Amino acid sequence: MADDKRGSIQVISAHSGDFVWRAGGALALYAEGGYDVRIVCLSYGERGESQGLWKQDGMTVKKAKAGRRAEAVAAAEALGADITFLDLGDYPLRIDATAVDRIVAEMRAAQPQVLLTHVASDPYNRDHNAAHEATLLARQVAQAAGHDPGTTPIGAPQVLQFEPHQPEQCGFVPNLLLDITPVFERKRKAMECMGAQSHLMRYYTDLALRRGVQAVRNGGRRSIVQAEAYQRVFPVVGQELL
Ligand SMILES: [Zn+2]
Repeated sequence: MADDKRGSIQVISAHSGDFVWRAGGALALYAEGGYDVRIVCLSYGERGESQGLWKQDGMTVKKAKAGRRAEAVAAAEALGADITFLDLGDYPLRIDATAVDRIVAEMRAAQPQVLLTHVASDPYNRDHNAAHEATLLARQVAQAAGHDPGTTPIGAPQVLQFEPHQPEQCGFVPNLLLDITPVFERKRKAMECMGAQSHLMRYYTDLALRRGVQAVRNGGRRSIVQAEAYQRVFPVVGQELL
């Protein structure tokens, strides 16, 4: 974590667009709040999540990776976040022991208070499940005093699962509706960078409005317009009931 920052938020994203659609608001909010915000993209989503690019004549995996990388770098900049690519391949995403060690190293460098990632069980996209499992495994290893003793173990960051594309099929039950109204224009700019998945723009704009209405209904400020939904993995620790 950078010394001049208030804290650190890290997202583990299976593909290079996932962090934008599902957690872009949270990342922008915390970047504006002075946090060190880091994105780890396990793959570029070059084969399975680059529909727009594969409509172009002469497209290759190498070109698709370069295109997705450029989009994700621009989106991260719009959100105020740093971004790292592990280039593990997609459809399928395979995360071996060496890759887990690379994720652990990224976590130890970031020292996050919060980790954001995918849900555990997405029947449509097993790459997302792999990212969830790798995040929990890397978190466990990154906490271990005996792993790579030259670096500093992490604490106990909360893991927040961001909203999958078809939440009911994934058993996604939100227990946090995050107000992203103040930064929605930044999220919109980041979404506009994702030319290879431009078909998702309308969907995630509408979803933010729907979650915003629910946030107000659940006792949030009436000024909330857009929100993102999350589901915690670990309990919240407090000294009060409310
Ligand atoms: Zn994905």
